[in-house]
Amino acid sequence: MFVDSHCHLDFPDLASNLDEILVNMQQNNVTHALCVSVNLEDFPRVRALAESHDNLYASVGVHPDYENLIEPNAPQLAKLANHPKVIAIGETGLDYFRLKGDLEWQRERFRQHIRAAKQCHKPLIIHTREAAADTLRIMAEEGADNVGGVMHCFTESWEVAQRAIEMNFYISFSGIITFKNATSVKDVARKIPLDRILIETDSPYLAPVPYRGKINQPAFVRYIAEEIAKLREMSLTEIAAITTNNFFSLFKAT
Ligand SMILES: [Zn+2]
Ligand SMILES: [Zn+2]
Repeated sequence: MFVDSHCHLDFPDLASNLDEILVNMQQNNVTHALCVSVNLEDFPRVRALAESHDNLYASVGVHPDYENLIEPNAPQLAKLANHPKVIAIGETGLDYFRLKGDLEWQRERFRQHIRAAKQCHKPLIIHTREAAADTLRIMAEEGADNVGGVMHCFTESWEVAQRAIEMNFYISFSGIITFKNATSVKDVARKIPLDRILIETDSPYLAPVPYRGKINQPAFVRYIAEEIAKLREMSLTEIAAITTNNFFSLFKAT
């Protein structure tokens, strides 16, 4: 069995087709998926998915790419996370690729998420793009190692992966790992300790080969596991078991 550790089933491309998407999961032995929140306005929809499906979970957080929103604060996030199916804080982090200029608000928002995770004792889902140094610095300054979490859709160097692992984080690979030119991501996947690997689709984005460019969905997470199995010269069954185990030990999902 496989678990998709990061998807956005509430986004219109997927929400409009939910029944079919859940059947596809089942047919591909993708037993569970974590629906990741990107802003507080839409969080009730994400939570409702988790409440109405035993095999779906939710997180709560505000994505760094969403500017000009009412800023969440730590106690508010921790309170929203106080729910049996809300198993993580995020996605949060820094994105210096999509947005430019004075991004102090992004860093402050990230700090609030780490504080919330410490208050509610739930792991973090961290997004970082062209901002690895500041992401690691803030994680260290705020004591993110107390709760741990996952560096999602990992595209950084092996050095960044090592630093995150030292802070009790897992590394999650998306469909990018199946792309031919993703040599540095493949290299990280070859080196990383097996007890630190997660897999995700980040659907509806980033569909893996052979669906690259199409709308992604949780059922496709098996292609990511297949690529990792190939890189590690292990069986698909072993990678499936390891990544599923890692998901449940990190998120303590039941
Ligand atoms: Zn992300
Ligand atoms: Zn995402």
